[in-house]
Amino acid sequence: MNFELSKEETDIKMAAREFAEGEIREIAKEHDQKEEFPKKLWKKACELGFVGGFIKEEYEGAGLSFFETCLIMEEFWRVDPGCGCVLLAAFGAEYLQNYGTPEQKKKYLPPIPAGEAIMGAAITEPDAGSDIFGARTEAVKEGNEYVINGSKIFITNGSIAKYLAVFCVTNPDAKSRYNRHSILMVETDRPGFEASKIRGKMGIRASDTAELSFNNVRVPRENLVGGKEGNGFAQTMELFNINRVVAAAQGVGVAQGALELAIGHVKKREAFGQAVGKFQAIQFKLAEMATKVEAARVLTYQAAWLLDNGRTDPKLIAMAKWMAGETGVRVTDDALQLHGGYGFINEYDIERFYRDAKIVEIYEATKEMEKNTIARQLLGKI
Ligand SMILES: Cc1cc2nc3c(=O)[nH]c(=O)nc-3n(C[C@H](O)[C@H](O)[C@H](O)COP(=O)(O)OP(=O)(O)OC[C@H]3O[C@@H](n4cnc5c(N)ncnc54)[C@H](O)[C@@H]3O)c2cc1C
Repeated sequence: MNFELSKEETDIKMAAREFAEGEIREIAKEHDQKEEFPKKLWKKACELGFVGGFIKEEYEGAGLSFFETCLIMEEFWRVDPGCGCVLLAAFGAEYLQNYGTPEQKKKYLPPIPAGEAIMGAAITEPDAGSDIFGARTEAVKEGNEYVINGSKIFITNGSIAKYLAVFCVTNPDAKSRYNRHSILMVETDRPGFEASKIRGKMGIRASDTAELSFNNVRVPRENLVGGKEGNGFAQTMELFNINRVVAAAQGVGVAQGALELAIGHVKKREAFGQAVGKFQAIQFKLAEMATKVEAARVLTYQAAWLLDNGRTDPKLIAMAKWMAGETGVRVTDDALQLHGGYGFINEYDIERFYRDAKIVEIYEATKEMEKNTIARQLLGKI
């Protein structure tokens, strides 16, 4: 076993840290308050190869491993989760890289790292979130086209994406519910497509989230990801396996950032004639926080390492995402507490971190669904 980062991994981590410190820290609060996607930041992050870094070099990506992708995500979220979501501009590209036809890969992948296109993956519907089988958006074949009708909700990049990978029912009569859905690429300038930005989010407010409607949206048959119907569920499970690990890295990043904010505060803030960091109760709290962050980090890195080595482990991935999500929530809560009243005021970054951390326990599967996955693997069929 080797717990050390390689020279290349260290360089990537340090480059991501330098970029996040230099480019994100000073714009974070403004984008949170305006609920505005940081377009200039996204372009700069593309120029440096951070966005869609996992896309292979033959499709103009940096060809990074998922572990390296996690290191970048962690560093961006350590400085600001909302602006750190610029890395999600490639969300859904995994579908194409894993399953796309050669033509689909050539068409949709290169514009993402080049900063010419933002992508998203539209799975969740108003009446179907955790229960993905309940997704009703339908794509009906008509000649050489599919006609799509339905709606999606909470879609990251929904109102700024150039194209979206959309989870649709194509085979409603298939015997198995695992074979009823397919993924269709939908360009967002097609007639009948509408996106409405959702305002008033609690956290990651610099990230775009939208409600989508499809009203007789026509796409050619070559937009069917992989060219074969009925594989949407399996393709989406693989997307989740990858992105849950990356989401775990978000939890580690927001927790690490909050811990550092707390350390900085307790060293400066005085009470009863001394820095509050001198009280043992505060020191114990910091020790607990740091230990939780490290435990979540190790689990996340292990899940990412297995993924890169072709040994995807859904149980370990669910453990990493649940643990890192909970660590993000608990550590930001503790860090805010250590700021006292100042933590409750939006002038202080910890107020934003506290709001941002919660999303990791919800998206890419809720923590309850992650525990279902873990328990299912532990128990098998009872
Ligand atoms: C900011 C944001 C960004 C998002 N981005 C995307 C995106 O880009 N693409 C996309 O497709 N979706 C996206 N989502 C949607 C997200 O993945 C869903 O919100 C999430 O999967 C939960 O679904 P739901 O909201 O319908 O909750 P529900 O499924 O209605 O769950 C409600 C509660 O019931 C619990 N529950 C449900 N079923 C079970 C069960 N079997 N056992 C135990 N508990 C259960 C849940 O854990 C939860 O606590 C995003 C959401 C948000 C808030």
